[in-house]
Amino acid sequence: FDDRDGSIWLDGAFVPWRDAKLHVLSHGLHYGGGVFEGERVYGGRVFKLTEHSRRLHTSARELGFRLPFAVSELDDASREVVRRQGIADGYVRPVAWRGSEQLGVSSAGTSVHVAIAAWEWPHVFSADARLRGIRLSTSRWRRPSPDTAPVHAKASSLYNICTLARDAAVAAGHDDALLLDHRGHLAEATGANLFLAIGGALHTPIPDVVLNGITRQTVINLARELGIAVYERHIRPEELSRADEVFLTGTAYEVQPVVAVDEHAYKVGKLASALSEAYGRLVRGPAPRR
Ligand code: PMP
Repeated sequence: FDDRDGSIWLDGAFVPWRDAKLHVLSHGLHYGGGVFEGERVYGGRVFKLTEHSRRLHTSARELGFRLPFAVSELDDASREVVRRQGIADGYVRPVAWRGSEQLGVSSAGTSVHVAIAAWEWPHVFSADARLRGIRLSTSRWRRPSPDTAPVHAKASSLYNICTLARDAAVAAGHDDALLLDHRGHLAEATGANLFLAIGGALHTPIPDVVLNGITRQTVINLARELGIAVYERHIRPEELSRADEVFLTGTAYEVQPVVAVDEHAYKVGKLASALSEAYGRLVRGPAPRR
């Protein structure tokens, strides 16, 4: 991924893609002091850009550091990265981490760095998997409690769990993993929030230990506009057997139907299809008029 043409925004300036490096003794690398964002570009525009820039700030705050760039500066930099890279449909990855001034566990004296890169990356799953739905298996790894980890931050350190879960699911022939939380409630997938359709209404976990995804919030609003009731609550895994539909939401996943969770099978249903369509209309804007 590091051997490409183009440029990456690093600490306020553009550097050639291949030169956007950090030191091996960076605090963030050793102790997980990093936060990041995942943003999506539709027709050259970043969807919900300011919401993502704000979340990068709140994530950093949860980890006890402050970003040296304001939300509006991050917004401008992201737009400029997309423009320079010539991205029409793609992905933007802002990341912030603690620097290499010292390597004690304490973060005292470390600087904070920020980089933003963008590339063409249309989808997480194949076109076929997106349409027919993906298969999940429940992971042995759990989303930790807020007493154990900064679960409200989009913190790099939490993705260690996601990578372990995702790799195990893929090795076993599934598309992604479903994680329970520390209490045994349904939590989320490795990069997306979870929704169950039961009797015409939607049910989704309370975001008390899962990331309160920007797509999740958008889809809840779209559902309510369509007159679909949405319940945010704790959901036990046994309820998977009475769900009519299951789907995931995320910046990269968009509205992704699920056709299997372990032994439970689902069809791509009416609610997932309606919300996927409504979400597509929202992010791409209305069809151009003749
Ligand atoms: N949960 C996790 C663990 C994620 O990585 C993501 C992707 N950022 C989400 C949920 C969905 O968040 P969003 O809709 O803001 O992309």
